[in-house]
Amino acid sequence: MHDSKRILVTGGSGFLGSFLCESLLADGHDVLCVDNFQTGARRNVLHLVDNPRFELMRHDVTMPLYVEVDEIWNLACPASPIHYQTDPVQTVKTSVMGAINMLGLAKRMKAKIFQASTSEVYGDPLVHPQPEGYWGNVNPNGPRSCYDEGKRCAETLFFDYHRQCGVNIRVARIFNTYGPRMNPSDGRVVSNFIVQALKGEPVTLYGDGLQTRSFCFVEDLIRGFRLLMDAPDGAEMPINLGNPGEFTMRELAEMVIELTGSGSPLVYRPLPKDDPLQRKPDITRATEVLGWAPRVQLREGLGHTIAYFDSLLSTPATVPLV
Ligand code: NAD
Ligand code: UDP
Ligand code: UDP
Repeated sequence: MHDSKRILVTGGSGFLGSFLCESLLADGHDVLCVDNFQTGARRNVLHLVDNPRFELMRHDVTMPLYVEVDEIWNLACPASPIHYQTDPVQTVKTSVMGAINMLGLAKRMKAKIFQASTSEVYGDPLVHPQPEGYWGNVNPNGPRSCYDEGKRCAETLFFDYHRQCGVNIRVARIFNTYGPRMNPSDGRVVSNFIVQALKGEPVTLYGDGLQTRSFCFVEDLIRGFRLLMDAPDGAEMPINLGNPGEFTMRELAEMVIELTGSGSPLVYRPLPKDDPLQRKPDITRATEVLGWAPRVQLREGLGHTIAYFDSLLSTPATVPLV
């Protein structure tokens, strides 16, 4: 058991945030989950609301927040392309104004603060796999820019608050992560393929399906989060967290069809603009600094995720989705 802290998790009712809240509560901490429910679902944290150490607050991080906390995890931000492109101005505001407000709070409280950054800071990478020293290849004014540039600016703010004001920061560059509690309608590839396969609908490959991604199971990622936050001071540098196993979208589709036993055909759809061709983390730094490496292989993690979606689809919605 760690010393009990008062911990703020923004975006805590989202996919990753809900697992993080659970993990922190399990260690005896008080968790304040702040979320505007833009893409998160109350059902993700419903099983926590009876825990006296858990508090759920509806709040938009673009607005100032004055609370008393010892530690902050800043996860608030829509994460899937269809969600972050629905209201791109709000996406930039969430990343940039959200970072300023949470960093202002961290400065006032002298609280350590974690930023959920992303592999998207590397854009459509020209270096492969991507080490943290790579500055990226990002379109500043395309449809993905609201997310990529918002997250890049948030990183800038984190490092400037660290250098200028001495704020104690941790920055994780998260690569594609999947698992139970992904939002079934956010258009991400793992949830799309599983839902399509379970329903017997065509599995939609964008482009030729030869673009690659590296998929990390949520349990591995949260373990990496916790190790990074608890790493000794001196860990104020961006750290990649992801599973280096690299798969084409066609390989992923075939694996999902096999594991679900589905008869779904593959169909091809246009590739979205600026869709990165390849992505794979170099996790040397995470291994050296944190002793972290993922343990769950894609096939095993997909099994857990398929079981979740299977029960979600076969249960009549008794709880509102949001
Ligand atoms: P998610 O959409 O499930 O969770 C994001 C949460 O933030 C949601 O609950 C949403 O309602 C909330 N939110 C959005 N805007 C807000 C605002 N202005 N104020 C308060 N709450 C707000 O996504 P996720 O996959 O859990 O992602 C969590 C974080 O991790 C995000 O910052 C995302 O950019 C980052 N990330 C995720 C992945 C991934 O593969 N899942 C990869 C890279 C980075
Ligand atoms: N802020 C907040 N909670 C706090 C302290 C600050 O939300 O407990 C916000 C506040 O809106 C402020 C921003 O964080 O504008 C940045 O704070 P900082 O102290 O860096 O700047 P300043 O207050 O001088 O603008
Ligand atoms: N993709 C796909 N079919 C889908 C959804 C996504 O082929 O139904 C592709 C998408 O074009 C991208 C990859 O899968 O190349 C990962 O997409 P996702 O939106 O999950 O994540 P991101 O592009 O942000 O890495």
